Amino acid sequence: MFNMRYDQKRIRKYHYFLLLSLIQKHKKMSRTELAKITNMSNTTVGKIIKELLEDGLVKEVGQVVGDLGRRATLLKINSEGAYIIGVEINLDHSEIAVVSLNGTIVKRRILNLNANQSPETVLNVIILETKEIISEMSTDLFDKILAIGVNLPGLITWPEGKVLVVPQFHWREVNIKEYIEKELNFVVYIDTDTRTELLAEHLYGGLTNYENAVCLYIGSGVGSAVMVNGELVRGHDNMLGEIGHITIDPNGDLCDCGRLGCLQTFFCSSSLEKKAQKPLREIFTAYELREDWAVRLINQARLYIGLAISNISCIYNPEAILITGPMVRQYPQITKDIEKIAENYVWAPLKTSYKLVKPSIEENSGVIGASAIVLKEFLRFSNDDI
Ligand SMILES: [Zn+2]
Repeated sequence: MFNMRYDQKRIRKYHYFLLLSLIQKHKKMSRTELAKITNMSNTTVGKIIKELLEDGLVKEVGQVVGDLGRRATLLKINSEGAYIIGVEINLDHSEIAVVSLNGTIVKRRILNLNANQSPETVLNVIILETKEIISEMSTDLFDKILAIGVNLPGLITWPEGKVLVVPQFHWREVNIKEYIEKELNFVVYIDTDTRTELLAEHLYGGLTNYENAVCLYIGSGVGSAVMVNGELVRGHDNMLGEIGHITIDPNGDLCDCGRLGCLQTFFCSSSLEKKAQKPLREIFTAYELREDWAVRLINQARLYIGLAISNISCIYNPEAILITGPMVRQYPQITKDIEKIAENYVWAPLKTSYKLVKPSIEENSGVIGASAIVLKEFLRFSNDDI
């Protein structure tokens, strides 16, 4: 028989992180609001808030006139109460940053690193550079570091943080989490850039008010990340959302994966370059000059992005679909008129059910995303055993 043990310490810890995550989510809250929303007594809320204030994780910010005209002090997350080290590893750009609890970068280092080398070479550079950033920290800052978050493209297991494959770097079967943790003495969380970008927008950016959202990520491949009721859904092997390899045309172009007509062959940057036999920059220049071939190519890409949106809306019924990724950021023309195009394909009952959203975190979204995984796991502490 399963035996549920009444454990005061455990319940206390659960409440501590519950209140912290509610304050994070709602930005500013009073003790009375917290008591109301959680059904906890004012006394219990007061005691836990006292602990959170002493630990420096929340702070008081002004007052609001509440029910019955009584003044209530508002609480918010103390962004300087803890910090996270975020690491982005990508083919053309890798960086490390120290990020505060509201997603602000306080220290940052761009790495001169080609990720298309052996995993050991790349990870040793990351470890060395992180050690240097840590050595420059004041003791006060160092003591407040929660953990390290890392993002990279590819298939990665969760929570083990093992890379199954990163085609862009030619990596296979690398236990990144274990490798970095051994050297740096911090807990390390690893996830894909697609998921961390969605999480960052949810925690710090334009999706804070959306609990059901999907990120469509367009770069050298195509992927998606899915959030249901505020939680990322990962599937059995952390591969949920790999829509780039859905077969759209069994007789279509050859995909990097070795099969024909995958979704990403219609609009990812490497496929467009392959089709045009030109670099992306030239394709978009020709498109701006309204050259026929480029207009046709980009219009076809848009059409299939529209189809992807229609399929996402049918499968997940999200409130928001974030369209992002390196190609969208560099060439926003690719999503021009995309609402209208998608509307042609979306099933009528779903037409008004979602909103298309652009990324709101404009710079350093990689490292901010990497920090978001850590914040999410920190706030989730309420679910953990102690
Ligand atoms: Zn494929």
